[in-house]
Amino acid sequence: MMPEDEFSLARKRMVEQQIFARGIRDPRVLAAMGSVQRHCFILPENLPWAYSDGAQPIGHGQTISQPYIVALMTELLAVQPANRVLEIGTGSGYQAAVLGELAAEVHTAELIPELARQAGKTLAALGYAHVHVHTGDGSRGWPEAAPFDRILVAAAAPEAPHALLDQLVEGGRLIVPVGSRRVQRLEVWERTGQEYTCRSETDVCFVPLRGQFGWK
Ligand code: SAH
Repeated sequence: MMPEDEFSLARKRMVEQQIFARGIRDPRVLAAMGSVQRHCFILPENLPWAYSDGAQPIGHGQTISQPYIVALMTELLAVQPANRVLEIGTGSGYQAAVLGELAAEVHTAELIPELARQAGKTLAALGYAHVHVHTGDGSRGWPEAAPFDRILVAAAAPEAPHALLDQLVEGGRLIVPVGSRRVQRLEVWERTGQEYTCRSETDVCFVPLRGQFGWK
């Protein structure tokens, strides 16, 4: 069997056994997880585990999240086709690609220049021309492209950064892992007019958000 066929088989199994089996039902999210070529976002030495049920190192002490967590956060974000989305913590670019399958425009910010450059190359090679990678501190959002319909923070924050809440449109939604450096709760924020509501979903474990509104 050709490697590409093996990858697509592994991806189909990932969606069935890790994502659908754990309760993700949004058909658009399942389709996105079934199409993004996760093996293109993985370090070459980790290719055999590209579709396995866990986070993977991507260099610089950072990780690509477990597929289920990417799917869960994406489902909670409830992305609409016309949305403009901001992600904080590009890492490998994988989550940004999943968002790119669902939204009209994606902006993603990464603090580590080498990761931003590599993710930008991967996304461009796969044809995600509407996914824009920015290098810099995303804990203050990305004012140049704000406001956003949806914001996803892919790193653990001490609290939901108010700069990000400010950059949500009315009717907008933000997902952020909030807690200690070691364990966090996934928070879902919604903005209606000038009011914000927050509900807390489930325990997660992300690398720390750094920068102005992250961990010092
Ligand atoms: N979404 C990524 C995984 C994110 S890991 C993927 O799909 O692969 C978290 C990333 O957040 C790391 O790459 C880290 O460098 C980055 N990060 C941490 N603090 C940041 C900040 N203030 N601004 C932008 N990126 C940040």
